[in-house]
Amino acid sequence: METYGRRPLTFTHGRGVWLWDHRGDRYLDCVAGVAVCSLGHSDPVLERKLGEQLCRIQHISNLYFSQEQTELAAWITRHSCMDAVFFCNSGAEANEAAIKLVRKYSHLGNQHCPTIVTACSSFHGRTLASLSATGQPQYQEGFEPLVEEFHHAPYNDFPAWQQCIDEQERRGRPVAAVMLEPLQGEGGVRPGDAAFFQALRHLCTKRQILLILDEVQVGMGRSGELWGYQKLGIEPDAITMAKGLGGGFPIGALAVQSHCNLFRPGDHGSTFGGNPLACRAALTVGEEIERRGLLAAVKQRGEQLRSGLDDLAVAFPRLCDSARGWGLIQGLVLRDEGPDAKDVVQACLEQKLLVAAAGSRVVRFIPALTISRQELAIALQRLRLALVSLCS
Ligand code: PLP
Repeated sequence: METYGRRPLTFTHGRGVWLWDHRGDRYLDCVAGVAVCSLGHSDPVLERKLGEQLCRIQHISNLYFSQEQTELAAWITRHSCMDAVFFCNSGAEANEAAIKLVRKYSHLGNQHCPTIVTACSSFHGRTLASLSATGQPQYQEGFEPLVEEFHHAPYNDFPAWQQCIDEQERRGRPVAAVMLEPLQGEGGVRPGDAAFFQALRHLCTKRQILLILDEVQVGMGRSGELWGYQKLGIEPDAITMAKGLGGGFPIGALAVQSHCNLFRPGDHGSTFGGNPLACRAALTVGEEIERRGLLAAVKQRGEQLRSGLDDLAVAFPRLCDSARGWGLIQGLVLRDEGPDAKDVVQACLEQKLLVAAAGSRVVRFIPALTISRQELAIALQRLRLALVSLCS
């Protein structure tokens, strides 16, 4: 089906941050499968570990235990403030699991109409509940009726959240949970404000409201910390993850603190969720982030990328406004009166550089966490040429 507005390009193979198309042309990939290929393309360690796993055991269902799933759950809980994990196959599914968890939490507390507040400009996925959670009407139009009792408040604006939460309480529909991205990815690469998140954490604790962070795009090291919440100085009650978790192999997860470990046998499930192959992929990504010191590398490369984008914003003031982001998720914000993000994406493509739009005014850079200093310098040089081409 014509679900996607695709570029007329077919890629045949990749290595690291490089992709080759069917004509043999080589592109520098700063999209990484939309923040997925954390270790780059065809990483030799991931290839070997997946090959070995494929030969040992691939899928057994969740009727039984697998060592790989147990090990991955242990890795996630050891490396976060979470205590238990549910595995699924994508970001939207992870958020669906979180939304169901909120319903269970509310029903156990005799609250049968649970309300969830999410942020304007957020993105949480395309399934009906995650779409209803998403605070961007353009994704929802034509798919109504949406799942009820989602309300949206402006990101990083604490008084507005407090007002929204109070208003729901007055309606007799107390808020059961809030769900936010630590940095809004699809909504324009907008980093969360630590003071906002800390005030919200305080309010949620006081009112027994669950604070859920959607770490699907930012989690697993992209910010320079393993989890986005570490940049904000808070501990959420639950997090969702997917994208970079499997480094290109589909896997998602909901991780919760022990007081939210509420699902009982039969409450939720997924045939493929957490199968040994997917868990081996995620375990390998986690182990390689540690072994190669990728968090420190992301911080360094993030600074390089950011200062390169800042310089370009100064050099092309008619096109660019500023740069923003964390680590290796950075956005170049374009001026309203200049070209659209999709025009810049196209101009970059002509320079054999892959970047992605985040809305109409932001160009997003989300390369593999393994990108080298030299590769990033080439990316910035190609971006410069693309911007020059848009000036003429
Ligand atoms: N949550 C966030 C923050 C995302 O960025 C995305 C995808 O872009 C999703 C959820 C949905 O993930 P998936 O496409 O794996 O369902």
